[in-house]
Amino acid sequence: MRLTEYFLPTLKEVPKDAEIVSHQLMLRTGMIRQSSSGIYIWLPFGHAVLKKIEQIVREEQVNAGAIELLMPTIQSADLWKKSGRYDDYGAEMLRMKDRHDREILYGPTNEEQITDISSHYFKSYKSLPKILFHIQWKFRDEVRPRFGVMRCKEFLMKDSYSFDVTEEDGKLSYNKMFLSYLKTFQRLGLKAIPMAAESGPIGGNLSHEFIVLANTGESKVYIDKRILDMNIPDEIDYQKDSENIVSKWTEFYTVTDDMYEQDTYESKVEEKNRLEMRGIEVGHVFYFGDKYTKPLNANVQDKDGVTKPIQSGSYGIGVSRLVAAIIEASHDDKGIIWPKSVSPFDYALICLNSKNEELVELCDMIYKKMKSKCAILYDDTSSSIGEKLNKMDLIGIPKQIILGNKSIERKSLEIKDRKTGTVEVQSVEAFLEIFEND
Ligand code: ATP
Ligand code: MG
Repeated sequence: MRLTEYFLPTLKEVPKDAEIVSHQLMLRTGMIRQSSSGIYIWLPFGHAVLKKIEQIVREEQVNAGAIELLMPTIQSADLWKKSGRYDDYGAEMLRMKDRHDREILYGPTNEEQITDISSHYFKSYKSLPKILFHIQWKFRDEVRPRFGVMRCKEFLMKDSYSFDVTEEDGKLSYNKMFLSYLKTFQRLGLKAIPMAAESGPIGGNLSHEFIVLANTGESKVYIDKRILDMNIPDEIDYQKDSENIVSKWTEFYTVTDDMYEQDTYESKVEEKNRLEMRGIEVGHVFYFGDKYTKPLNANVQDKDGVTKPIQSGSYGIGVSRLVAAIIEASHDDKGIIWPKSVSPFDYALICLNSKNEELVELCDMIYKKMKSKCAILYDDTSSSIGEKLNKMDLIGIPKQIILGNKSIERKSLEIKDRKTGTVEVQSVEAFLEIFEND
């Protein structure tokens, strides 16, 4: 993509009303624009990052055995009345009426709708287990939308739902999702820590929030630092390994303030391992048994011919919130530093002097060669050197290929790593070799 043909409305100044760095940087890099309170337009650069993240989330769901479908954003109020949540949900739910005066709503989540689906299709143990997911926009009329897409009204969520015959199988589904979250966040370049969370009236400990540590986060967290050294194996057999891996991660006493008990923390975590911080919730896994299947009559016949409510759980990831969370976790005073996996472009190509015809010719040639092999953003504008370098640092593409007047006689270019700042000089010929072969 040539920058002269792209749509990247960057800002030099820090916007006044943006309080946290991710919000500031998303506005400055022209990723988003506020449409109205808590509702955002995703401009091309922001949209491209969002889609990259969405795809990684999707792939890791599929790897864990989940199946994608798509449910509508608008739901009928009927199912919510049956589950009892129509009233419970309160003012966060956007309620509407259609032309026939029927009550409808913009879905804040989808437990009711998916449970209804399960009641139609999963009548026998032979159809289960199943984990279904979709990636869909949600609307919650948040009291205080803030921090840009971090807490907004319209946001993109990946939500999965598991359906099992027995509690034991339900637990396995929970563990599979838990593990797939660890994988997902690792691929996104994030350390997201699973923390025991409140599981509401059902009790038990099958509820975890995945939290990215950041001073600007809304949740207060108490951590056993040793969890930060945990890793997950590259190769996972979800069926066989899930329980074992999840139990290792959940051994640590690591909680949000809702669950915090000072005595337990101090007895379970040695002083040198204690870390109290703030964090951003990027995902939530929750096993709730028959909470929705019972009122909505989603029953299944087990092997012995006994009919009982399906066991189920729900698992959310804030796809759009992740864009901001990644920026909070990965930036410096110059701008964003995208992890390679989510950057819309692999390389930035910068022609420092657009008046030097020979240089422009060389850069155009390099651009053409690279374009077919990787995603590249080519600054072919006539801006000043400083402006060009600052802009590329601001938007955070992992590798910058820089050519100036001297590149002609030296037949060389500079490769700058955005994260470390290290610059490597290489001959144009040697550099282009990596783009020659497939
Ligand atoms: P929170 O405590 O932050 O309000 P929640 O418990 O209401 O989150 P869930 O219903 O579990 O969230 O939704 C799943 C995920 O969707 C959350 O982990 C979060 O990443 C994301 N999310 C929830 N509310 C918002 C919002 N208002 N804006 C952006 N993302 C959100
Ligand atoms: Mg909420």
